[in-house]
Formats: sequence, C-alpha cells, structure tokens
Amino acid sequence: MKTFSIAIHGGAGTLVKGLMTQELEAQYKNALKDARDAGFKVLENGGSSIDAVETAVNLLENSPLFNAGKGSVFTAEGTHEMDAAIMEGKNLEAGAVSLITGIKNPVSLARDVMEKSYHVFLAGEGAMRFAKEQNYSLEQPDYFYDKVRYKQWQGIKDSDKFQLDHSVKKDGKFGTVGAVACDQNGDIAAATSTGGMTNKKWGRVGDSPMIGAGNYANNKTCAVSCTGSGEFFIRGVVAYDVSCLMEFKGLSLEDAANEVINKRILEIKGDGGLIAVDTEGNITMPFNTEGMYRASKSSNGTENISIYK
Ligand code: ASP
Repeated sequence: MKTFSIAIHGGAGTLVKGLMTQELEAQYKNALKDARDAGFKVLENGGSSIDAVETAVNLLENSPLFNAGKGSVFTAEGTHEMDAAIMEGKNLEAGAVSLITGIKNPVSLARDVMEKSYHVFLAGEGAMRFAKEQNYSLEQPDYFYDKVRYKQWQGIKDSDKFQLDHSVKKDGKFGTVGAVACDQNGDIAAATSTGGMTNKKWGRVGDSPMIGAGNYANNKTCAVSCTGSGEFFIRGVVAYDVSCLMEFKGLSLEDAANEVINKRILEIKGDGGLIAVDTEGNITMPFNTEGMYRASKSSNGTENISIYK
C-alpha cells in the first residue's frame, strides 16, 4: 500500500509565546488533533484526499478558535466575508468562493462549485445565489460573532489599517485554516478557508480562494495550502510557485517549499507559511513567522502537532 498522509494548518503569524496560556494552547492543540485525525481516518478507510481535506477543514471552520467559518474576522463594515478554495491533483479540478456571508462551511460550498457548476470561482451575490440553489441554509451573524475578533476590529475600525487576525501581539487568536492530503491511490488535494483580514474593505479578496496563490494541487508535483498576508501570496503566486519549482527545476517538496517561504516571498517582505504534500505522502510545513498552528499524520507512523518553531 502507498503511504498516505495529511497535514493541516490553523494560520501563521506573530505568536508571542509568553502571551499564550497553557489552557489556550491545549485548546488549540486539541482542535488541531481532532481535525487532523478526522481527515486521517477518511484516508485510512480508503477515502479520497478531497474528502479528507474537506472533512478536516470543516472541523476547523466549526471551531471559533480559527479565522474561518465560525470565528471569522470582522470586515470594515462589521460583517463577515469569507473565502475558500478546494482543488484535487488528479484532474486539476478546482472550486472557489469569495465574499460570501452566512455560510457555515465555505469550503463545502467551494467543493459544490467544483462539482455542481461549470465554473471554478464564484464571488459575492452570485456565489450566494448558487448557495441558495444548492439549498444551503444561512447562519445568522451572531453564529460567526467572536469577542476577541470583535475587539480586534474595534481597535482599528476607524483607521485605514487592515491586519492579519493574529498580528496584534496581545492576541491569542489565530488563523486561516487549510489541509493537504495524499490518499492510498497517491492522489493529492488541498483546501483552504478564511475570514480574511480584520477591517478589510472594498470587497478585498485574499490569496486563500485564488487557485495558484493560496491553494493548489497537481499530482505531477504537490498539494499546497497557504496562510499569511494574502497580498504577498497573491503577488508571489506562492502555491503554484512551489509546484513549478518541483516540476521545472526538479526540486524536492521540502526544498521547493523552503525556497518559496524562506527566500522568494521574503524578498517582497511577505510573512506567512504553507503546508504541502506530494504523491509519495511526504509532508513539509515551512513558515517565516514566529509560529504556525499545524499538525500532520502519516501512515508511515510519523505525526506532529506544533505551534512554534
Ligand atoms: N491569507 C489570508 C488572507 O490574506 C489570511 C491568513 O492567512 O490568515 O486573507
């Protein structure tokens, strides 16, 4: 049997170790473990990598600890606008949604765009009409409300600033979520979901729903999910860049991901990280920030749950 594996993240950024309580750290680690293990179980039972990444991301979206689904950050208007993408590496099928509101599990809507529409990327009102046609029920704004996120927004709402949900040092909260997986057939997939950046306006769209920027999968190379300041990840076409370094330069998964996160994206001052898997089930999780919530598990017996370097 081929090696199968999964990796997940819950955001990368400025995490000040001293400000994280033991209790909170345990909560994060438990949430990461639950999501990782649920995704791994899908793989163990012979399920597909796309099912595994959706399962893991759904659990992270349902946790208020992360900036995706429940617990998403506030926009400049005091609303929640979420972005998500999913992609499978066998046929390069992909689906993405942006600027959606009220949807409990944005990544599942992205998957429906992939499987039930002729399109790849739906945004705003149109994406919401599609969700309605697919019989999605809408959550009320209070479902997404989170005290910490609200305070973050209050702190900058009268300014032109917008920020990563975790860039305020006093902040125990953290991140965009994502998952990558390689199943028993050696097929790989990636999924990413986010509330974006606090106080974002003008219909700002980050890297997370953009195929090739924050999310990408290709059986020729790797599956990647990114987190960090989206503007840099868009400009660096980060997820596809990792794939290109493998395909055209022959780099290993680890070297390609490392080159992008610790060199190329830093050259334009981009902060963040990514998780990636290849069709052999190898995993890499580099980041150039103080921390990145992350977890992984492989059928070869290795597993990991970490926050800091
Ligand atoms: N990349 C996300 C965005 O820019 C934010 C994050 O990763 O926390 O929307």
